[in-house]
Amino acid sequence: MRHLLGLKNMSAAELQSLLDTALAFREIVDRPVKKVPTLRGKAVITLFYENSTRTRTSFEMAAKIMSAEAINIAVGQSSVAKGESLKDTLQTLQSLRADCIVIRHPMSGSAEFAANILHIPVINAGDGRHEHPTQGLLDMLTIRQAKGDLSGLVVSIVGDITHSRVARSNIWGLTAMGASVRLVGPPTLMPADAEKLPVTVHSNLLEGLEGADVVNVLRLQTERQEAGLLPSLREYSRLFGINHKSLACAKPDVLVLHPGPMNRGVEISSEVADGKYGLHSAMEEQVTNGIAVRMAALYTLMGANIPPVVDA
Ligand code: ASP
Repeated sequence: MRHLLGLKNMSAAELQSLLDTALAFREIVDRPVKKVPTLRGKAVITLFYENSTRTRTSFEMAAKIMSAEAINIAVGQSSVAKGESLKDTLQTLQSLRADCIVIRHPMSGSAEFAANILHIPVINAGDGRHEHPTQGLLDMLTIRQAKGDLSGLVVSIVGDITHSRVARSNIWGLTAMGASVRLVGPPTLMPADAEKLPVTVHSNLLEGLEGADVVNVLRLQTERQEAGLLPSLREYSRLFGINHKSLACAKPDVLVLHPGPMNRGVEISSEVADGKYGLHSAMEEQVTNGIAVRMAALYTLMGANIPPVVDA
């Protein structure tokens, strides 16, 4: 593996290996002293053209736990604000001797563009509505920890599917591992090519949740939506909001995921988000697993010849 651009076309064995590596790293994340020398001397640069809390911070933590240098480019204060192109920016970071570039950009295909012009590894931290592979992997790791095997599980992804890179990475990763994926949402938020994806499509929430093992709730991506796709947020919440009543259709031990940031009271109720009524909401686990998955990605691309888990 030279880059991590998406989960599409990755084999079950490749996904399994990344998840196993992440699980080994999770033990380090939970230590009181989180430091191993695995990537000492390497420099990881994060280049985010879109906002982020979880992804950017966890890449930085992942790099630092493994003793790599983590450098964040604040795009608004960089020469991007003077009009420097993406290509020139990437080449500059490579000349600064970055060993890996983590990129988030609003343009679908931007990470692949970076990989095509650079000779160092590139990790896609979200490219437009295309893919967000480390989010897909951390969702899979969280499900695997709660449910054991991914194979045979029914996972309902609910909400703004069209604009969600998280949905796409989940679809490819989960189906490669043998899970069944349902897409649930209003037709206006369903991709035009949904019928060609390895999923079933549901415009009725309760039908889409029936007997589900896992529900992955998506944020409404208002920054990517054109006007008029939804009558109102209240209407959306009434028809597609995940609350303890709608979850009664799913399996009693349903696991609830959300990639964050959440719009409480819109796509998910606070009760569900906070795990009331005995519900299993895994958002905090997802965030912590995000560090382990990003350690696995950095290690696989930069240090696979170094033993992964080194005693503190
Ligand atoms: N944080 C995720 C992403 O960047 C999900 C979201 O923003 O809704 O795609």
